[in-house]
Amino acid sequence: MLTLPIYFDHAATTPCDPRVVDAMLPYFTEKFGNAGSRNHKFGWEAEEGIDRAREQAAALIGANEKEIIFTSGSTEGNNLAIKGAAEMYEKKPAGQTGRGHIITAIHEHKAVLDPCKRLQKEGFDVTFLEPPRDGVITAKAVEAAMRPDTILVTLMWANNELGTINEVPEIGRLCKSRNVLFHTDATQWVGKMPTDVERDGIDLLTWSGHKIYGPKGVGALYVRRRNPRVRLVAQIEGGGQERGYRSGTQNVTGIVGFGKACEIALNEMDADGKRLLAFRQKMERELTRALDVTQINGHAERRLPHILNISFGFVEGEGLMMAIKEIACSSGSACTSASLEPSYVLKALGIGDDLAHSSLRLSMGKWTTEEQVDYAIAKITEAVKKLRLLSPLYDMHLEGIDINTIQWAAH
Ligand SMILES: *Cc1c(COP(=O)(O)O)cnc(C)c1O
Repeated sequence: MLTLPIYFDHAATTPCDPRVVDAMLPYFTEKFGNAGSRNHKFGWEAEEGIDRAREQAAALIGANEKEIIFTSGSTEGNNLAIKGAAEMYEKKPAGQTGRGHIITAIHEHKAVLDPCKRLQKEGFDVTFLEPPRDGVITAKAVEAAMRPDTILVTLMWANNELGTINEVPEIGRLCKSRNVLFHTDATQWVGKMPTDVERDGIDLLTWSGHKIYGPKGVGALYVRRRNPRVRLVAQIEGGGQERGYRSGTQNVTGIVGFGKACEIALNEMDADGKRLLAFRQKMERELTRALDVTQINGHAERRLPHILNISFGFVEGEGLMMAIKEIACSSGSACTSASLEPSYVLKALGIGDDLAHSSLRLSMGKWTTEEQVDYAIAKITEAVKKLRLLSPLYDMHLEGIDINTIQWAAH
């Protein structure tokens, strides 16, 4: 039996895996110690839990456990990586201009854009690359933006709205050859796709528990320790936990859950990815077959298996969301979010306001069933058809009138 509403918003957050919850439970009660207590069993037990989680997290990305810093999630990880690296490797002291050059892109997550804008205010030069229509940042584009004073490149591995995949191993290799640090916000990638920080040339990598079936409020930052040994200026200071990079009593339960989620992801991502890719392709095939003037946003192939971003012409975004209330998903429309603008990510790709407003981001997860996929296809098809019946513009389109050539009456 299908229970409604169905959850198609796994790029926003995932449910916690029951196996993760089971691993966490003892650390709330019997094993409640402070991992910083070095003199008794309570502290040692908590520390053992964290040590295991550090190994599990490192194994997921091909790192050494000494290279893992536990954080409160990707927002904090990105802030620490970007501000911490900029402040450590700056060319001139604070308060001056020309402190160093940083490369990022305009369709990054806000948790990367806002730290970069802060650094810009504080005297760093920042290049915000503009993606081509397919949304993919290439190594070539990064190379063209490089300067002698470039200190850091920060580009996400996969985009959270589109699922598009940047040329990360290539960008990593380019940065290595130029002795420039490379940070990647891999929140949507790690735990879904195979990752090896050595092979992929990554110096700093951010990911988060709640996007990989772990708990919210916990994540990790990978900080390379050799070739080169990367150092950061701490952004949260205090008791010196996490090798001084992130002070504060460790969130033992959260970290244990995060570790377990990493272990499960390593074992199950291949099978999950294969299944979800088939589902995504089915949705794409059936929605574009049933509905004309429909476009899939982002690169045709370079996309994560479980995310589909799709726009429907001649449909109003708010109306569409109202008509598919049984499907919990995200929209590129302003009406459903706190801001007034349509998605800045879709805008960055040159997608017009109308198609941005009428876009849906459907993201599937470990427990998505084929029955749910079929329901979503049927529901969306029905809703779009119904809304178009009410659209005079769609009628004109069917009659072959090019909407763009119409002379609208002046207001
Ligand atoms: C969810 C997400 C974040 C924010 O992660 P939190 O752990 O919620 O702070 C950052 N970047 C990307 C790409 C994301 O998808």
